Amino acid sequence: SRRVKLFGVEIDALRMPEVVSEIWRQIDSPDSTAQYVVTPNVDHAVLLQEDPGLQSAYAEARWVLADGWPVVWASRFLRQPLPERVAGSDLVPNLFASASEEKKLSVFLLGAAPGVAQRAAAQIEQRWPNVTVCGTYSPPLGFEHDEAENERIIEMINAAAPQLLVIGLGAPKQELWIARHHSKLKIKAAVCAGATIDFLAG
Ligand code: UDP
Repeated sequence: SRRVKLFGVEIDALRMPEVVSEIWRQIDSPDSTAQYVVTPNVDHAVLLQEDPGLQSAYAEARWVLADGWPVVWASRFLRQPLPERVAGSDLVPNLFASASEEKKLSVFLLGAAPGVAQRAAAQIEQRWPNVTVCGTYSPPLGFEHDEAENERIIEMINAAAPQLLVIGLGAPKQELWIARHHSKLKIKAAVCAGATIDFLAG
C-alpha cells in the first residue's frame, strides 16, 4: 500500500477497515513471524530523532499508522494526504468488534498497572463475546532490562498462544520491546497500543 513520509517516518495511507482486514489476513495466514503495528503521533517524531533503536523498531513494523489528527493534518499540509487517523486505541476495539462466531479472536494483554489488565479482560469478554482474553500480565518497573523476566514473559505469551498481542507499555518502551522480541513470539500480530488497556478497563 501507499506510504507517506512525514517527520522522517513512513506512514501507511490506510483507513481503519483496510487495516482491520489486513490484520485478519495476517492472523489467517500461515506466516509464523509476528507482524506488528506502531502508531506514531507528533511527539514520537521527537523521540525518533534521538533514538536509533526506535527508528529500527519503526522500520521493522508491518503497519505504521497515524495515531493522532495532527499527523493527518501535517500530511495534508504537505500534500501527501493520509486518508484518516487510525489510533491504536481505536484499532484494538475495532479488531475486537470484527471478531465473529466464525472468526473468533484470542488476545493477550501485556502492560498497564496490576489489576487493570484483568479488569480490561473481563470487560472485553463481556462486550465482545467472540473475543477470548487468554492471558494478561503487568510487568514490574524496569522489567525490560531483566533478561530472565523477558524470557518468562515470552514463555507466558507462547503458552497462552494468542493470535493477537496488545502491548500497553507506553512509547517508546512498547515499540522497543516488540522489535526486540517479536521473532520469539508464537503470535500472529501485535499492536503497540499505549493506554488502550486502561481505556478498556473502563
Ligand atoms: N506502562 C506499563 N509499564 C511501564 C510503563 C507504562 O505498563 O513500564 C503502561 C501504563 O500503565 C499505561 C500505558 O503503559 O497503561 C500507556 O501509558 P501512556 O499513556 O504513558 O502511553 P502513551 O499512550 O503515551 O504511549
